[in-house]
Amino acid sequence: MHILLMGPPGAGKGTQAAKLIDHLHVPHISTGDMFRAAVKEGTDLGKKAKEYMDAGKLVPDEVTIGIVKERLMKPDCIKGFILDGFPRTVIQAEALDKSLADMNIKLDRVVNISASDDELVERLAGRRVCKACGQPYHSKYSPPACENTCDKCQGEVYQRADDKEETVKKRLDVYHAQTKPLIDYYSKRGLYVEINGEQHIDKVFLDLCQSLASENP
Ligand code: ADP
Ligand code: AMP
Repeated sequence: MHILLMGPPGAGKGTQAAKLIDHLHVPHISTGDMFRAAVKEGTDLGKKAKEYMDAGKLVPDEVTIGIVKERLMKPDCIKGFILDGFPRTVIQAEALDKSLADMNIKLDRVVNISASDDELVERLAGRRVCKACGQPYHSKYSPPACENTCDKCQGEVYQRADDKEETVKKRLDVYHAQTKPLIDYYSKRGLYVEINGEQHIDKVFLDLCQSLASENP
């Protein structure tokens, strides 16, 4: 299945994608994770992306589209993927349409996970992430069993620099201005579905699985 997971920062895209890949066995393509890996490696891409990420802004479209196109060309994407955090602008969505058409791939579902800004601020402020595998945790609501250690891979669990309060507010503004219009872009097509992200993680996952299993979203 080719699935696009949309939603504001903190809605639970990464959390749900991690659960979904255990069932679907398709690659999880997160542009945020790709940029963070490039920052860690200190590549030119990483240096460029870091400036924007630290400021809570979007990395320019041409850079982002370039890395996604390259990733989509890998053979593991033929059988399916979960795209998380891309597209984030209408220009990116149009580029994705073109790439998929060139590859003869059709999206099966576009899932938007929704949550209010107040909830998102609370979640992002408490978010902790595994440095090694990217598994998200929450300091209050879903901490790892051993402090600062990932349950899945024993990696170090840390707070992302862009989850500091000032940057979170900027990221939400950017979401409303640049990414939210994509709801309109995709909801005109039959494959769009909205899921209430303000439910227990397991209930969000149940709703997600039900919508993926049904003929119609
Ligand atoms: P995104 O990938 O959309 O930015 P994450 O999956 O990283 O969001 O989740 C953001 C934070 O919210 C994490 O700390 C995660 O543990 C927590 N979280 C995710 N889904 C839920 C939920 N349904 N209820 C409460 N907290 C959640
Ligand atoms: P995320 O992990 O999805 O919250 O993304 C972290 C940061 O990476 C964002 O705040 C942006 O700076 C950058 N980023 C991730 N995906 C994109 C994208 N599709 N377009 C532009 N910037 C992105």
